[in-house]
Amino acid sequence: MMQGQIIEGRGGLYTVRDAAGIDHVLRAKKKFRRQHMTPLVGDRVDFTPGEGDEHGWLEEILPRSSQCLRPPVANITLLVIVAAAAPAPDWLLIDKLLLGARMQGMRAVLVMNKCDLGEEAARQARRDYAGAELPVLCVSAGTGAGVEQLRAQMQGEIACFAGQSGVGKSTLLNALLDLHLQTGEISRIERGKHTTRHAQLIEAGGLRVMDTPGFSLLEFDQVMDPVELMDYYPEFQPYQGCCRFQPCYHGSEPGCAVIQAAREGRISPARLERYHELLEKTRQLWRERYD
Ligand code: GDP
Ligand code: ZN
Repeated sequence: MMQGQIIEGRGGLYTVRDAAGIDHVLRAKKKFRRQHMTPLVGDRVDFTPGEGDEHGWLEEILPRSSQCLRPPVANITLLVIVAAAAPAPDWLLIDKLLLGARMQGMRAVLVMNKCDLGEEAARQARRDYAGAELPVLCVSAGTGAGVEQLRAQMQGEIACFAGQSGVGKSTLLNALLDLHLQTGEISRIERGKHTTRHAQLIEAGGLRVMDTPGFSLLEFDQVMDPVELMDYYPEFQPYQGCCRFQPCYHGSEPGCAVIQAAREGRISPARLERYHELLEKTRQLWRERYD
Protein backbone atom coordinates (compact mmCIF):
# COMPACT_ATOMS: atom_id res chain seq x y z
CA MET A 1 0.00 0.00 0.00
CA MET A 2 1.23 3.49 -0.88
CA GLN A 3 0.13 7.02 0.03
CA GLY A 4 -0.48 9.95 -2.25
CA GLN A 5 -2.76 12.85 -3.09
CA ILE A 6 -5.44 13.08 -5.77
CA ILE A 7 -4.44 15.78 -8.22
CA GLU A 8 -7.15 15.15 -10.79
CA GLY A 9 -10.29 13.08 -11.21
CA ARG A 10 -12.09 12.43 -14.48
CA GLY A 11 -14.58 9.86 -15.65
CA GLY A 12 -14.13 7.66 -12.59
CA LEU A 13 -10.34 7.63 -12.88
CA TYR A 14 -8.21 9.38 -10.31
CA THR A 15 -4.67 10.59 -10.83
CA VAL A 16 -2.76 10.26 -7.59
CA ARG A 17 0.72 11.67 -7.04
CA ASP A 18 2.91 9.75 -4.63
CA ALA A 19 5.59 11.18 -2.32
CA ALA A 20 8.25 10.69 -5.00
CA GLY A 21 6.22 12.80 -7.45
CA ILE A 22 5.15 9.88 -9.59
CA ASP A 23 1.55 9.86 -10.87
CA HIS A 24 -0.66 6.79 -10.68
CA VAL A 25 -4.00 6.29 -12.40
CA LEU A 26 -6.48 4.62 -10.08
CA ARG A 27 -10.04 3.50 -9.87
CA ALA A 28 -11.97 3.82 -6.60
CA LYS A 29 -13.01 0.66 -4.78
CA LYS A 30 -16.76 -0.04 -4.87
CA LYS A 31 -17.05 0.38 -1.10
CA PHE A 32 -16.80 4.18 -1.49
CA ARG A 33 -20.07 4.26 -3.40
CA ARG A 34 -21.73 2.11 -0.74
CA GLN A 35 -20.44 4.51 1.92
CA HIS A 36 -21.60 7.53 -0.15
CA MET A 37 -18.02 8.73 -0.13
CA THR A 38 -16.73 10.48 -3.22
CA PRO A 39 -12.98 10.86 -3.56
CA LEU A 40 -12.17 14.54 -4.13
CA VAL A 41 -9.29 16.31 -5.77
CA GLY A 42 -6.96 17.18 -2.88
CA ASP A 43 -7.76 14.02 -0.94
CA ARG A 44 -4.84 12.20 0.64
CA VAL A 45 -5.30 8.50 0.01
CA ASP A 46 -3.94 5.02 0.52
CA PHE A 47 -3.68 3.11 -2.73
CA THR A 48 -2.42 -0.02 -4.43
CA PRO A 49 -0.50 0.90 -7.56
CA GLY A 50 -1.40 -0.80 -10.83
CA GLU A 51 0.93 -3.21 -12.58
CA GLY A 52 2.05 -2.54 -16.11
CA ASP A 53 -0.69 -0.76 -18.04
CA GLU A 54 -3.39 -1.63 -15.55
CA HIS A 55 -4.82 1.00 -13.27
CA GLY A 56 -4.41 0.58 -9.53
CA TRP A 57 -6.95 0.88 -6.74
CA LEU A 58 -7.78 3.74 -4.44
CA GLU A 59 -8.24 2.01 -1.09
CA GLU A 60 -8.76 4.60 1.62
CA ILE A 61 -9.46 8.33 1.93
CA LEU A 62 -7.56 9.92 4.80
CA PRO A 63 -9.28 12.54 7.02
CA ARG A 64 -9.78 15.92 5.31
CA SER A 65 -8.60 19.19 6.82
CA SER A 66 -11.19 21.11 4.79
CA GLN A 67 -13.86 20.50 2.21
CA CYS A 68 -15.71 22.74 -0.24
CA LEU A 69 -19.11 21.92 -1.67
CA ARG A 70 -18.79 23.71 -4.98
CA PRO A 71 -16.39 22.97 -6.47
CA PRO A 72 -15.98 19.70 -4.56
CA VAL A 73 -12.34 19.76 -3.47
CA ALA A 74 -10.56 18.84 -0.24
CA ASN A 75 -7.63 19.95 1.89
CA ILE A 76 -7.23 23.55 0.77
CA THR A 77 -5.24 25.25 3.54
CA LEU A 78 -5.05 28.83 2.27
CA LEU A 79 -7.82 30.81 0.61
CA VAL A 80 -6.43 33.65 -1.49
CA ILE A 81 -9.32 36.08 -1.75
CA VAL A 82 -8.69 38.25 -4.78
CA ALA A 83 -10.32 41.64 -5.30
CA ALA A 84 -9.40 44.50 -7.62
CA ALA A 85 -8.60 48.12 -6.82
CA ALA A 86 -11.08 49.15 -9.51
CA PRO A 87 -13.97 48.88 -10.06
CA ALA A 88 -14.94 48.94 -6.37
CA PRO A 89 -14.66 45.53 -4.66
CA ASP A 90 -17.70 43.55 -3.55
CA TRP A 91 -16.90 43.70 0.16
CA LEU A 92 -19.80 41.47 1.17
CA LEU A 93 -18.47 38.73 -1.10
CA ILE A 94 -15.04 39.13 0.51
CA ASP A 95 -16.59 38.73 3.97
CA LYS A 96 -18.54 35.66 2.83
CA LEU A 97 -15.40 34.03 1.45
CA LEU A 98 -13.49 34.90 4.62
CA LEU A 99 -16.24 33.37 6.74
CA GLY A 100 -16.28 30.21 4.62
CA ALA A 101 -12.51 29.88 4.90
CA ARG A 102 -12.59 30.29 8.67
CA MET A 103 -15.42 27.79 9.09
CA GLN A 104 -13.25 25.31 7.22
CA GLY A 105 -10.16 26.12 9.27
CA MET A 106 -8.33 27.59 6.29
CA ARG A 107 -6.03 30.55 6.58
CA ALA A 108 -7.02 33.47 4.37
CA VAL A 109 -5.27 36.42 2.77
CA LEU A 110 -6.84 39.28 0.84
CA VAL A 111 -5.06 40.22 -2.36
CA MET A 112 -5.97 43.67 -3.59
CA ASN A 113 -4.92 43.27 -7.21
CA LYS A 114 -4.60 45.99 -9.88
CA CYS A 115 -2.94 48.28 -7.34
CA ASP A 116 -1.34 49.98 -10.36
CA LEU A 117 -4.81 51.57 -10.81
CA GLY A 118 -4.74 53.09 -7.31
CA GLU A 119 -4.10 52.09 -3.72
CA GLU A 120 -7.19 53.53 -2.04
CA ALA A 121 -9.06 50.18 -2.03
CA ALA A 122 -6.08 48.48 -0.38
CA ARG A 123 -5.91 51.24 2.24
CA GLN A 124 -9.63 50.84 2.91
CA ALA A 125 -9.20 47.05 3.19
CA ARG A 126 -6.38 47.51 5.70
CA ARG A 127 -8.59 49.81 7.79
CA ASP A 128 -11.61 47.51 7.57
CA TYR A 129 -9.80 44.26 8.29
CA ALA A 130 -7.27 45.53 10.83
CA GLY A 131 -9.09 43.76 13.67
CA ALA A 132 -10.15 40.80 11.54
CA GLU A 133 -6.70 39.22 11.35
CA LEU A 134 -6.84 39.20 7.56
CA PRO A 135 -3.52 40.10 5.92
CA VAL A 136 -4.04 42.51 3.01
CA LEU A 137 -1.56 42.44 0.14
CA CYS A 138 -1.30 45.24 -2.36
CA VAL A 139 -0.53 43.50 -5.65
CA SER A 140 -0.36 44.16 -9.36
CA ALA A 141 -0.29 41.06 -11.53
CA GLY A 142 0.30 43.48 -14.38
CA THR A 143 3.49 45.10 -13.09
CA GLY A 144 4.53 42.28 -10.75
CA ALA A 145 4.40 44.49 -7.65
CA GLY A 146 3.63 42.51 -4.50
CA VAL A 147 3.65 39.15 -6.28
CA GLU A 148 6.66 37.95 -4.25
CA GLN A 149 4.85 38.78 -0.98
CA LEU A 150 1.96 36.64 -2.17
CA ARG A 151 4.36 33.86 -3.10
CA ALA A 152 5.77 33.98 0.44
CA GLN A 153 2.26 33.65 1.90
CA MET A 154 1.67 30.56 -0.25
CA GLN A 155 4.74 28.61 0.85
CA GLY A 156 3.83 25.21 2.25
CA GLU A 157 0.10 25.71 1.62
CA ILE A 158 -2.44 24.30 -0.78
CA ALA A 159 -3.82 27.58 -2.01
CA CYS A 160 -7.04 28.30 -3.82
CA PHE A 161 -7.89 31.60 -5.49
CA ALA A 162 -11.39 33.00 -5.18
CA GLY A 163 -13.09 36.25 -6.06
CA GLN A 164 -15.28 37.98 -8.65
CA SER A 165 -14.53 37.34 -12.28
CA GLY A 166 -12.35 39.97 -13.90
CA VAL A 167 -10.32 40.78 -10.78
CA GLY A 168 -7.22 39.15 -12.26
CA LYS A 169 -7.05 35.66 -10.78
CA SER A 170 -5.84 33.99 -13.99
CA THR A 171 -3.32 36.72 -14.66
CA LEU A 172 -2.05 36.44 -11.11
CA LEU A 173 -1.77 32.68 -11.27
CA ASN A 174 0.19 32.89 -14.50
CA ALA A 175 2.49 35.54 -13.02
CA LEU A 176 3.12 33.30 -10.00
CA LEU A 177 3.63 30.04 -11.80
CA ASP A 178 5.43 31.33 -14.89
CA LEU A 179 8.26 32.70 -12.76
CA HIS A 180 9.22 29.21 -11.73
CA LEU A 181 7.93 27.22 -14.64
CA GLN A 182 9.43 23.79 -14.84
CA THR A 183 9.33 21.76 -18.00
CA GLY A 184 6.17 19.77 -18.42
CA GLU A 185 4.63 20.93 -15.22
CA ILE A 186 1.85 23.30 -16.05
CA SER A 187 1.33 22.41 -19.67
CA ARG A 188 -2.42 22.71 -19.22
CA ILE A 189 -2.35 26.34 -18.26
CA GLU A 190 -2.14 28.35 -21.43
CA ARG A 191 -0.47 31.69 -21.08
CA GLY A 192 -3.03 34.37 -20.36
CA LYS A 193 -5.99 32.11 -20.89
CA HIS A 194 -7.53 29.83 -18.38
CA THR A 195 -8.92 26.64 -19.83
CA THR A 196 -9.63 24.55 -16.76
CA ARG A 197 -12.90 22.65 -16.89
CA HIS A 198 -12.36 20.47 -13.85
CA ALA A 199 -10.52 20.83 -10.58
CA GLN A 200 -6.86 19.96 -10.48
CA LEU A 201 -4.04 20.35 -8.02
CA ILE A 202 -1.13 22.10 -9.70
CA GLU A 203 2.44 22.09 -8.46
CA ALA A 204 4.93 24.53 -9.88
CA GLY A 205 7.95 26.34 -8.55
CA GLY A 206 7.38 24.98 -5.05
CA LEU A 207 3.81 26.31 -4.95
CA ARG A 208 0.70 24.21 -4.80
CA VAL A 209 -2.53 25.62 -6.16
CA MET A 210 -5.99 24.12 -6.31
CA ASP A 211 -7.20 25.18 -9.72
CA THR A 212 -10.97 25.00 -9.97
CA PRO A 213 -13.41 25.40 -12.87
CA GLY A 214 -15.06 28.77 -13.14
CA PHE A 215 -13.02 29.25 -10.06
CA SER A 216 -14.46 32.43 -8.78
CA LEU A 217 -16.71 31.53 -5.88
CA LEU A 218 -16.08 28.72 -3.49
CA GLU A 219 -19.17 27.53 -1.73
CA PHE A 220 -19.11 25.92 1.66
CA ASP A 221 -21.75 24.42 3.85
CA GLN A 222 -22.60 27.53 5.84
CA VAL A 223 -25.45 26.30 7.99
CA MET A 224 -24.71 27.17 11.59
CA ASP A 225 -26.44 28.40 14.71
CA PRO A 226 -26.58 32.20 14.21
CA VAL A 227 -25.14 32.72 17.69
CA GLU A 228 -21.86 31.20 16.42
CA LEU A 229 -21.39 33.69 13.57
CA MET A 230 -19.68 36.23 15.86
CA ASP A 231 -16.99 33.65 16.70
CA TYR A 232 -15.59 34.24 13.20
CA TYR A 233 -15.09 37.95 13.88
CA PRO A 234 -11.86 38.35 15.89
CA GLU A 235 -12.51 42.10 16.20
CA PHE A 236 -15.60 41.36 18.35
CA GLN A 237 -13.71 39.23 20.84
CA PRO A 238 -12.53 42.06 23.16
CA TYR A 239 -16.23 42.91 23.79
CA GLN A 240 -17.27 39.34 24.60
CA GLY A 241 -19.55 39.44 27.63
CA CYS A 242 -19.69 43.27 27.72
CA CYS A 243 -23.18 43.65 26.22
CA ARG A 244 -26.27 44.30 28.35
CA PHE A 245 -28.07 41.17 27.13
CA GLN A 246 -26.58 37.67 27.04
CA PRO A 247 -26.39 36.16 24.58
CA CYS A 248 -26.19 39.27 22.42
CA TYR A 249 -26.12 38.82 18.64
CA HIS A 250 -24.70 42.33 18.23
CA GLY A 251 -27.64 42.91 15.89
CA SER A 252 -29.82 45.74 17.21
CA GLU A 253 -29.92 45.00 20.94
CA PRO A 254 -29.75 48.01 23.27
CA GLY A 255 -26.57 48.30 25.31
CA CYS A 256 -24.52 46.31 22.76
CA ALA A 257 -20.79 46.86 23.31
CA VAL A 258 -19.93 45.83 19.74
CA ILE A 259 -22.35 48.34 18.19
CA GLN A 260 -20.97 50.98 20.57
CA ALA A 261 -17.39 50.09 19.53
CA ALA A 262 -18.36 50.54 15.87
CA ARG A 263 -19.94 53.92 16.65
CA GLU A 264 -16.68 54.98 18.24
CA GLY A 265 -14.63 53.64 15.34
CA ARG A 266 -12.90 50.89 17.33
CA ILE A 267 -14.56 48.34 15.02
CA SER A 268 -15.09 49.01 11.31
CA PRO A 269 -18.74 50.15 10.94
CA ALA A 270 -18.76 48.73 7.39
CA ARG A 271 -17.66 45.29 8.64
CA LEU A 272 -20.38 45.40 11.31
CA GLU A 273 -22.99 46.37 8.72
CA ARG A 274 -21.99 43.41 6.54
CA TYR A 275 -21.99 41.17 9.62
CA HIS A 276 -25.63 42.17 10.07
CA GLU A 277 -26.38 41.07 6.50
CA LEU A 278 -24.66 37.73 7.05
CA LEU A 279 -26.43 37.34 10.42
CA GLU A 280 -29.77 37.76 8.67
CA LYS A 281 -28.75 35.22 6.04
CA THR A 282 -27.51 32.78 8.69
CA ARG A 283 -30.80 33.08 10.61
CA GLN A 284 -32.72 32.33 7.42
CA LEU A 285 -30.59 29.26 6.58
CA TRP A 286 -30.92 28.08 10.18
CA ARG A 287 -34.73 28.34 10.07
CA GLU A 288 -34.80 26.42 6.77
CA ARG A 289 -32.24 23.81 7.75
CA TYR A 290 -34.63 20.86 7.90
CA ASP A 291 -36.45 21.66 4.63
P1 GDP B 1 -10.16 36.60 -13.62
O1 GDP B 1 -11.52 36.56 -14.24
O2 GDP B 1 -10.25 36.93 -12.18
O3 GDP B 1 -9.34 35.38 -13.88
O4 GDP B 1 -9.41 37.86 -14.28
P2 GDP B 1 -8.32 37.91 -15.46
O5 GDP B 1 -7.02 37.36 -15.00
O6 GDP B 1 -8.92 37.28 -16.67
O7 GDP B 1 -8.14 39.46 -15.67
C1 GDP B 1 -9.20 40.32 -16.08
C2 GDP B 1 -8.61 41.55 -16.75
O8 GDP B 1 -7.86 42.32 -15.81
C3 GDP B 1 -7.64 41.22 -17.88
O9 GDP B 1 -7.88 42.12 -18.94
C4 GDP B 1 -6.28 41.45 -17.26
O10 GDP B 1 -5.31 41.86 -18.22
C5 GDP B 1 -6.56 42.60 -16.31
N1 GDP B 1 -5.60 42.61 -15.17
C6 GDP B 1 -5.19 41.56 -14.42
N2 GDP B 1 -4.32 41.95 -13.48
C7 GDP B 1 -4.17 43.28 -13.63
C8 GDP B 1 -3.40 44.27 -12.91
O11 GDP B 1 -2.66 44.00 -11.97
N3 GDP B 1 -3.53 45.57 -13.33
C9 GDP B 1 -4.35 45.92 -14.36
N4 GDP B 1 -4.41 47.21 -14.68
N5 GDP B 1 -5.07 45.01 -15.05
C10 GDP B 1 -4.98 43.71 -14.69
ZN1 ZN C 1 -23.70 42.90 21.56
